[in-house]
Amino acid sequence: MHRPIQAHINQSALENNLHVARRATSARLMSIIKADGYGHGMLRVAGALSASDGFALLDIQDAMRLREAGFRQTILILEGFFGAEDLALFAEYDLTCVIHSAWQLALLDAYPKSGKLDVWLKVNSGMNRLGFVPQQVAQAMEQLRRHRAVREITLMTHFANADEARGVAEPLALFNDVAAPYRISRSLANSAALLRYPETHGDWVRPGLMLYGASPFADASAQQLGLKPAMTLSSRIIAVQELRAGDEIGYGALFRAEHAMRIGIVACGYADGYPRHAPNGTPVLVDGQRAQTLGRVSMDMLYVDLSKLPQAGVGSRVVLWGEGMPIEEVARAAGTVSYELMCALTARVPVVV
Ligand SMILES: *Cc1c(COP(=O)(O)O)cnc(C)c1O
Repeated sequence: MHRPIQAHINQSALENNLHVARRATSARLMSIIKADGYGHGMLRVAGALSASDGFALLDIQDAMRLREAGFRQTILILEGFFGAEDLALFAEYDLTCVIHSAWQLALLDAYPKSGKLDVWLKVNSGMNRLGFVPQQVAQAMEQLRRHRAVREITLMTHFANADEARGVAEPLALFNDVAAPYRISRSLANSAALLRYPETHGDWVRPGLMLYGASPFADASAQQLGLKPAMTLSSRIIAVQELRAGDEIGYGALFRAEHAMRIGIVACGYADGYPRHAPNGTPVLVDGQRAQTLGRVSMDMLYVDLSKLPQAGVGSRVVLWGEGMPIEEVARAAGTVSYELMCALTARVPVVV
């Protein structure tokens, strides 16, 4: 027998979520599969999302793996190239390149003469992470247009608050101003903007999180949005302890029993990717019933309260997140976001499809 933890990746949920995106827009869909497909496995995700018009990720090596696996769609490299030596690979593998900084424009002179490069010029519309500020865009555009190897140019930006009450109005107006003189493709929307702000859709939308079945919004659940969780992290109870009043649990005695109670020990810890900082009371599902964690999450195990589940015991199935236990709820309890939980899944957790 193997240790009972596993991550189930539901391909039909991925397909469903892509359909939700498809129904919401007439723009082309660029599925974001960075960070190993948000922890779901890059090639597995690309396979389930093969109806996408494009894929976006960070690593040129990953893009090469996608091409070698036979994917013919547009592949966008979100941080562009990191050095002149990367440039030949863009030509060889027909990769599309984000250009976000002046140093990249300067390096472009090293681009192979024979290569034909599609670039996405990134505009900094207020997030102040990557991109050219509006006053720099005209000149960057001019440089790209003059470049012998540059084929198609797309203008892009990224929103800092599309999932928040503040929304996209300011950066959208700024971007539209900058883009107005050019008759070229545009791309702005992440999942939140795709779902809530049709005026941002442009020519390419760039959904990530929603494809994995999580809601980007605090005020709308994945289920309300028609999304299905693509990852279910589950394990089993491997031991039970009967506590007396005053007994404490785990490292640092983070929990102390006020009365006699039963607790279960679950084979899942922070070395599997479960957040160590999840406090007492983080929700889990035990045999399909809601329960709560207690005490400090350790490397390989965590504790759940079985007081209200007398039928539960060794062997009971525990869902940490996924089907029946929204990852957003777990993330909120643990003071983080579902993105981080998905990406944190570690290599030792067996994946089943
Ligand atoms: C990660 C990323 C996205 C996807 O964002 P979600 O919130 O996961 O939909 C879109 N665009 C860029 C530039 C990104 O880096």
